[in-house]
Amino acid sequence: MGPILVVTESAAGAVRSTSRQVFSMAAQMAAAGGAEWTALVFEPCEGGLAGPSRVLVLAEESAAGYDPETYAAAAAEAARHVRAEVVLMAATATGKDLAARAAHQLGAALAQDCTGFGLQDGRLSFTRTPYGGKIITEVELETRPMVATVRPRAFLPMDVSGPAALETFRVKLPERRMTVQRTEGRAADRPDVTDAAIVVSGGRGMQGPEHWPMLEALVEALGPTATLACSRPVSDDGWRPRSEHVGQTGRTIAPDLYIACGISGAIQHVAGIAGSRCIVAINKDPEAPIFQVADYGIVGDLFEVIPELTARLKASV
Ligand code: FAD
Repeated sequence: MGPILVVTESAAGAVRSTSRQVFSMAAQMAAAGGAEWTALVFEPCEGGLAGPSRVLVLAEESAAGYDPETYAAAAAEAARHVRAEVVLMAATATGKDLAARAAHQLGAALAQDCTGFGLQDGRLSFTRTPYGGKIITEVELETRPMVATVRPRAFLPMDVSGPAALETFRVKLPERRMTVQRTEGRAADRPDVTDAAIVVSGGRGMQGPEHWPMLEALVEALGPTATLACSRPVSDDGWRPRSEHVGQTGRTIAPDLYIACGISGAIQHVAGIAGSRCIVAINKDPEAPIFQVADYGIVGDLFEVIPELTARLKASV
C-alpha cells in the first residue's frame, strides 16, 4: 500500500497519548501493507518522536497555536507532499475538526472515530461502531488519499522516547482569520477524559456544582488514572467545564471503567461512552435507561452510595 501520514497533536512539547495511539495503528497498518509512515507535527516535541519512518515539523513561524483553517491546509499539503494514501488523526475534538477540513481540501472520503482496520487482498477497511455502538461496520473508502480518525484508547500508545531525524516542512499557509481569546484547561494533576482509564461522571442527578467535591473524593480514592466527566446539561448549565462533557456532541471515551452518577442514560450520552469496557451506574430510578447499558447497576440515592463507595475504596488500600 501507499504511504501513511499521521497528523499529530501535541501538548506542552510532547506528543499526546491519543496521537501515540494513532502511531500504533499506523505502525501496524504500515507493517501489514509494507508501507512507510510519516508523522506531521506542529511543534518540536522534546519527549521524543521515535517510531515513524519520517517526521515533518511544520516551520515554527506558521505553527503558533491551533487554528482549524491553517492546520487543515498544512495537513492537506503534507498529505500531498508524502503522496499519502491514508491520512490518520486521533478522534479527539481537534482531530475530528481537522480531519473533516483536511478531507474536504483533499477531496477525500472520511471515516470518523474508527476502532480498528483490516487489510485483505490489498483492500483497506476501517471498523466503526455507529448508532451508539449498536452495530459494527467495516468501511472501505474509495478515494486516494482517504482520511480516518482513530477512537481514543482503541490502540495502546506507542513509546516514542528516543531521537528522530526531523525534516522541517515549509508550506505557504492561508492567513489566520481567527484568534483564540481563552483556552479552558482541566486540572493539571488529572488525565484528560479521553486518556483516563477510569472516568467518574456526574449528571443532573448531582443537583448542583456544590456537590462535585463528593465525586472528586471518589476520583481521588480510585487513584491517578481516574478523572471526572459529566453529561451535557451539566456543562450547559456551567456546573462543569465543556472539556468534561461526554456524548454525541461531546467527547467520545472508552475507559476501562465508567461510573455514571445521576445520569439517566439518554441515547446521546451513551453514544459517547458505549466503548467503555465496564459501565457502573448509580441511579435512584430502577427504570433509568442507563441500566440497559450498565454492567453493574446500583439502585439508590447517590448522596448515600457515593460516600459509602469512597469510604470502602479508601479502606481497601
Ligand atoms: P437527566 O436526564 O435529568 O437524568 C438525571 C438522572 O439522575 C435521572 O435518571 C434521575 O433518576 C437521577 N437522579 C436524580 N437524583 C438522584 C439521586 N439523588 N440519586 C441517584 N440518582 C438520581 N447529553 C449528553 O450527556 N451528552 C451529549 O453529547 C448530548 N448530546 C445531545 C445532542 C442532541 C442533538 C440532543 C437533542 C441532546 C443531547 N444530549 C446529550 C442531552 C440528552 O438527550 C439528555 O438530555 C442528557 O444526557 C440528560 O442528562 P442527565 O442524564 O445528566 O440528566
